[in-house]
Amino acid sequence: MEKIESFKVDHCRLEPGIYVSRRDGDIVTYDLRMRKPNTGELMSNSQMHSLEHMLATYLRNGPIGDKVIYVGPMGCQTGFYVLVKMDDNERFLAALKEALRKITGHEGEIFGKSPRECGNYINLDCEAAKAEAQGFLDVLNNGNNTFLYN
Ligand SMILES: [Zn+2]
Repeated sequence: MEKIESFKVDHCRLEPGIYVSRRDGDIVTYDLRMRKPNTGELMSNSQMHSLEHMLATYLRNGPIGDKVIYVGPMGCQTGFYVLVKMDDNERFLAALKEALRKITGHEGEIFGKSPRECGNYINLDCEAAKAEAQGFLDVLNNGNNTFLYN
């Protein structure tokens, strides 16, 4: 089997941050690395799922909403993929930070928390989404975000 692109990234050297993993035509894939891999520091399903609801909603309702193709968690529970139809790292980073800030200040119920809107709505937790958003904002504000894996 040919090795797929994401297996070619050396996960042993990865630090939390934001990385471009693919360009497919005019679609850019960003990897939001929220945990250092293979340390046992994982997001729980509830943390990941809660952030997914909030991040997808705020990104799609923000300044690059019409460019967002996909927002979803990594199966390894260490981050998220965001696909956008746009090639502008700084614009993406600004929109991502804005969405994360809005999550941390969110009041009221988590978006999509009902049996009609979600396949497992009872494991959604707004405080978990806020904590994850704040944690990644800290990474983005303090790290050096080159967007490059190597
Ligand atoms: Zn859901």
